[in-house]
Amino acid sequence: MISLMFNSVATPFWEWQRCVEYNLWTPNHPLSYLTISAVARKKMARVLVGVKRVIDYAVKVRVKPEKNGVVTQGVKHSMNPFDEIAVEEAVKMKEKKLASEVIAVSVGPTQSQEVIRTALAMGADRGVHVEVPAAEYDLLQPIHVSKILAKLALDEKADLVILGKQAIDDDANQTAQMTAAVLDWPQGTFCNKVEKTDAGLTIAREIDGGLETIKTKLPAVLSADLRLNTPRYATLPNIMKAKKKPLKKVTPKDLGVDTTPRIEIISVEDPPVRQAGAVVADVDALVAKLKAGGHI
Ligand code: AMP
Repeated sequence: MISLMFNSVATPFWEWQRCVEYNLWTPNHPLSYLTISAVARKKMARVLVGVKRVIDYAVKVRVKPEKNGVVTQGVKHSMNPFDEIAVEEAVKMKEKKLASEVIAVSVGPTQSQEVIRTALAMGADRGVHVEVPAAEYDLLQPIHVSKILAKLALDEKADLVILGKQAIDDDANQTAQMTAAVLDWPQGTFCNKVEKTDAGLTIAREIDGGLETIKTKLPAVLSADLRLNTPRYATLPNIMKAKKKPLKKVTPKDLGVDTTPRIEIISVEDPPVRQAGAVVADVDALVAKLKAGGHI
């Protein structure tokens, strides 16, 4: 506290404010290290957000005739809905000056860049596209994505990784948990509310019985649940601005991550078609029908 006050006085105000806003290292100032360390305790430097391109939630998914996957050609895709919530949370942190930079990452084929651009239009600062060709992408599993995100989190010196609680295509709900495990960072999954404190984060988590509140230090990995926030729409001017924001392309190999498939898809089937119901005249008829069907 004393060092914070001392440094606040000793450091020119504009420079202190710049440190607060951008968490910058100012080597020409003899006391900047103490100032920055005091500031750094109060804020996060970087947030990495995972954005997955998935078949749009409103599309009826169809299995390919060869039964080795689902039809993706000519099908509308968009950002995984839980990832929109993750981006919104990160952008809000930046607006509240709790984060200095938001980096959107998508792992997948070339078209994955579309969802990175959407994240940039929502307010992320830059994007990283980890290119995995479409043929290999079908067999890419959460463990591979987790290793990629973990490596990027370290390379980008992120303090926080925010992912969706699950991707609506494979419903795995594994990537956030495994990213935390690979990094050996604490995790706050199914976030309903996230608050920054001097010590780290206070998180309300959605659990079966209601809400559970936990505290965690940074760095950490979070997963966004449905009620965390309402994501903003990307406005046309922001979509135009997003085209100019930086987007870096790398491969899993560049990151030293082996994406050799660990699974083989044997068969993909449609869910069983729901049988039509029957209307019965009264309770006696219902009981008789249930008995006849061997249900009671
Ligand atoms: P999952 O574990 O597959 O249900 O995915 C959970 C979350 O991990 C998603 O909501 C994304 O935030 C992130 N994620 C999964 N796959 C990818 C991917 N290919 N690219 C970027 N983020 C991903």
